[in-house]
Amino acid sequence: MRYYSLKHQSALVDFKTATINGQAPDKGLYFPEHIPQLPDAFFAEIDKVTNEEIAFQVIKPFVGDSIPEEVIYQIVAETINFSIPLVKVTENISTLEMFHGNTLAFKDVGARFMSRCLGYFVKDNTQKVTVLVATSGDTGGAVADGFFGVEGVDVVILYPSGKVSSVQEKQLTTLGNNIHALEVKGTFDDCQQLVKTAFADRELSSDLFLTSANSINVARWLPQQFFYFLAYKQWADKSMPPVISVPSGNFGNICSALLAMRSGLPVQHFIASCNVNDVVPRYMSSLEYNPQKAVPTISNAMDVGDPSNFVRILEMFTNASSPLSAVFSAISFTDEETKNTIKRVYNDYGYLLDPHGAIGFMGLENFLNKHPGQKGLFAETAHPIKFYDVVEPLIGKAIEFPTTIQSIMHKEKKSTLINPTYNELVDYLKEL
Ligand SMILES: *Cc1c(COP(=O)(O)O)cnc(C)c1O
Repeated sequence: MRYYSLKHQSALVDFKTATINGQAPDKGLYFPEHIPQLPDAFFAEIDKVTNEEIAFQVIKPFVGDSIPEEVIYQIVAETINFSIPLVKVTENISTLEMFHGNTLAFKDVGARFMSRCLGYFVKDNTQKVTVLVATSGDTGGAVADGFFGVEGVDVVILYPSGKVSSVQEKQLTTLGNNIHALEVKGTFDDCQQLVKTAFADRELSSDLFLTSANSINVARWLPQQFFYFLAYKQWADKSMPPVISVPSGNFGNICSALLAMRSGLPVQHFIASCNVNDVVPRYMSSLEYNPQKAVPTISNAMDVGDPSNFVRILEMFTNASSPLSAVFSAISFTDEETKNTIKRVYNDYGYLLDPHGAIGFMGLENFLNKHPGQKGLFAETAHPIKFYDVVEPLIGKAIEFPTTIQSIMHKEKKSTLINPTYNELVDYLKEL
C-alpha cells in the first residue's frame, strides 16, 4: 500500500514512511492510494472469527510489506487486548464501549498500535525519534501510556493549561521517563498549531527526527477501524445494519468508521455528534467550511475548531457515486443538553454516560426519532470516571475509581509551562 498527500505536492510513500513522517512534507495528510475491499464471506462469517484475526485482516493491506505478517499479528493482538463490548442501553440504542483500555478512552487503540509500529521501525536506529503530539485531553494519556518505555523514542505532549480534566492531566504528567508534558498557556488549537509549525520546520524536524502521534498519523487513524468491525460482529440483526453515532472532535474516529464502510462494512448511516464546536454541522448545511476558535466545553476532548481529519472524509467522497450527505449527517449539542442527558439516561435506563458519550447518545436518539424502525449504536469513547467532576454532581453520587486511576491520582504532576509561541517550543525541544 502506498499513501499520497492530500496536498498532492509530495511523493507517494509506504506505510513505514507515512508513520515516521506523520504529515507529508507538503503539510498534507496522508491517504491510502486505494481502499481495500473485504470479501462478502468475511462479513458473513464474522461472528465466528476472533477479534485478533478480524483486526489483522482489516489492517494487513494498509501495512503492506512494511512489517512482516507475524509481527503485525502480534501488534494487533496487543492493541486490542481488552474487551470492547456492545451494551444495550434502550430498546433501539446500544453503545460500543471503547474505553476499557489502560487510559480509559478509545484512543488507547490508536496509540498502542502506533507505538508498537514505530518501536518496530526504529529498533535498529542509532538516533532517537521524538514524537510530538498535541492533546485536547485523552490523546496525551493514551500516547503517554502507549509509548512509555519504548526504546529509542522520546515523547513530548502539548496540552492546554487548565482545559483538561484532573484525571487526564495526571495520566500525561506523572509517568516521567521518556514522556515529557508541556503545559501550554492557550487552547488545544494553539497546541495543534505549534505542532504543525514544528513539522513544517524542515531543519528542526530532521534534527530531532520529529514525528507526530496525533490522529493525523496513519498508524493511529487506521486501527480505529477495528472498533466498527467488532461492533458489527456483536450486532444481532445483520439484516438491518446499524446507524452509528460517533462523538467527534478532530474527526479521526468517525473518519476511520467511514473508511471501514468503504471497505465493505454494512452501515445504515453515520452521525457525527458534536458539542458547540460545530464547524462540520455548519458545513453540512451550508457547504462552507469556516474554522473557528475552539470553545471550551464539558466534552473537552471534542473542543476542536478546525478538525484535521475532515479533509480525509471529503477525499473519500470526492469522486464517489453518491454524496457525503447520503450516508453522513452532523449535529451539535450544548453543555446544558449534555448534562440533562447524562441525568436522564442514568435515571431512566441505569446507564452512566460520560459527556462525550452523552453527545453520541443524543445524536443517535435524534436521528432514530426521525427514522422510526431503525436501530443504532453510539460510541462511548471514555469512561465516565475521567470526568467525575462533571458527572458526579449530576447523578448525586460518587463513582468508583478503577484501580489504574487510583494509583496515579496520588502521583506528583511534572510539566513545563510555556506560552503558545513557537520560539518557546523550539527552545524546549532543543534542550531535551
Ligand atoms: C478524542 C476524543 C473524542 C473525539 O475523537 P476524534 O477522533 O478527535 O473525533 C471523543 N471522545 C473522547 C472521549 C475523546 O478522547
